[in-house]
Amino acid sequence: MINKNSKVIEQIKKGSEKSGKTYSFNDTHNENEIAQMWFQQSEDGLVLFVVFYTLACRWSRCLGCNLPSQVSGRHIPYNAIMAQIDDLFSRPDVVAKKNDIKKIIISNNGSILDEDTFSSTALMYLLAKVNMNLHGLKVFGIETRPEYVDVAELEFMARALAEGETETRLEIIIGFEAFDDHIRNNVFDKGLSLDLFERFVESLSPFGYSLKCYFMQKPVPDMDDEAAVEDIKRGIDYLSGISRQYRVSVNIHLNPTYVATGTVIEEAFKRGDYTPPYLIDVARAALHAKNKDVSMFIGLSDEDLALEGGSFIRPGEDRIIQEMERFNQTGNYTILENLL
Ligand code: SF4
Repeated sequence: MINKNSKVIEQIKKGSEKSGKTYSFNDTHNENEIAQMWFQQSEDGLVLFVVFYTLACRWSRCLGCNLPSQVSGRHIPYNAIMAQIDDLFSRPDVVAKKNDIKKIIISNNGSILDEDTFSSTALMYLLAKVNMNLHGLKVFGIETRPEYVDVAELEFMARALAEGETETRLEIIIGFEAFDDHIRNNVFDKGLSLDLFERFVESLSPFGYSLKCYFMQKPVPDMDDEAAVEDIKRGIDYLSGISRQYRVSVNIHLNPTYVATGTVIEEAFKRGDYTPPYLIDVARAALHAKNKDVSMFIGLSDEDLALEGGSFIRPGEDRIIQEMERFNQTGNYTILENLL
């Protein structure tokens, strides 16, 4: 195990170096406590979003991403992750809202299904605790890169969730980030070909699991605001076709890009070569999903990872944020139309 862990840690180091990351990991965090959690409202109802504290994302090389800086640079064993699960379900705000939680999203700022970062024992324990505590749960969402998805493992998880009090759908959540192939793979370094993605969706198709894809609006410095809107629109059209072709329900989670510290986006921002997207352009891009075969959610949090002055939320935009939150809860596109 020690050798395997060192190999994964070496991969993380190489990935970070390749993409010029200068952040450090959060190695002083108590390994028995989760990294972060927050509540969101969505069309499914109240969402509990949890980031477990584990070894960082093995890929670690996506251009503007500093999510690994919130987690660990060393292996976190299964018993510590189980202690985090106990920590989560004993938090007063989770206890107070547990009967209202309709969806849980499980993240480790990497891939939950990569067993070298998130233990399988802990994953089984999590399913048991979810069944014991979240009696109104409708959706169980798992963030992962597609290469770690094993259909047999999903079937096992879906079977376990079916033993809970209510019917719970499994949602697989992956990062797509940009539609343009060159930007996605050569500039952003996502490592996701359309071919791999389509084989992955095909493998989900017979089981009724749903899919959520993260997109970033304006994810790289050499992209102007108009090109950023167009890229999202093309992504919406593509995923709408994928949803029809494979009969998989697809949600797009559109994240406006913020300037993440310790990345090349920070350097470009400081040189004056990058500005985060404008919320009004985000509304314009999201509106393209109206009457398409995908649903849309606009990510409105920078998870406190943005450089000062590098957020996509500018002074005086509270009303736009409130309206976008209302859109997220209702899926009513008239709200976005009225913003433009
Ligand atoms: S975007 Fe996701 S896959 Fe890429 S480095 Fe960040 S956490 Fe890892």
